[in-house]
Amino acid sequence: MKLLRRIKDEVMDVFFPGDCPVCGDPPKMDEGHYACKACLDQIAWVGGSVCRFCGIGMHAIEFQGLTCSNCRKQEHLFHRGKCMFVLDVIGKQIIHEIKYHGAKDVLDDISHWLDRCPGYREFLVGAHLVPVPLHRRRESKRGYNQSLWIAKALKKDLGSAVEVGDFMKRVRNTSTQTKLEKKDRQKNVKNAFALKPGVCLDSIYKIVLIDDVFTTGATLNACTQAWNDVGVSHVQIATLGHG
Ligand SMILES: [Zn+2]
Ligand SMILES: [Zn+2]
Repeated sequence: MKLLRRIKDEVMDVFFPGDCPVCGDPPKMDEGHYACKACLDQIAWVGGSVCRFCGIGMHAIEFQGLTCSNCRKQEHLFHRGKCMFVLDVIGKQIIHEIKYHGAKDVLDDISHWLDRCPGYREFLVGAHLVPVPLHRRRESKRGYNQSLWIAKALKKDLGSAVEVGDFMKRVRNTSTQTKLEKKDRQKNVKNAFALKPGVCLDSIYKIVLIDDVFTTGATLNACTQAWNDVGVSHVQIATLGHG
């Protein structure tokens, strides 16, 4: 069934490429991306001085190593982070397409997104991109893990500069974080993640966890904990949206 669904998806992609995830217009392939250029221009891209942990723009004079007010209140286990855009109305639409409508072709635009996010590519170079896993049951219901898609899309752009390392699994099927307060989010995902058996740590030099969005960092923290538990202390994170 899964194979049939995949074949159907791929055939559909060829004949009916996805519409612009922002305005819903058919893709303007002469512009070279699914989202219209005008729509991409409206996305709140992150750049300039950014928070070292979550990557959000700080609107300060050019100065690296800042920590935003939200991250100052947290004890993040990861060391650095990057995000691409703010989850305003448009940012949310893009994530929604990827996460709930399975609009994988939206991610074909990722090179154009990276062009708008100075430093993001450089941040990833040399890394194993490790997608935040979904629980087996949720993944089979959804049919895919959007974070793995994102990691693969980044690899498509960066080539041999990165590897995708689908190294983690969710050992507890946690309830969705969306409706939880900050404190409850931490509790909800505590000890929810582990490394898959057989991951060889010897060939891993740089870990960047990949997720679709950064909210409080609770999920990414819990994933970092799993790496810390096996003796890998330096972990970084990268997401698409922030909010
Ligand atoms: Zn558009
Ligand atoms: Zn921050």
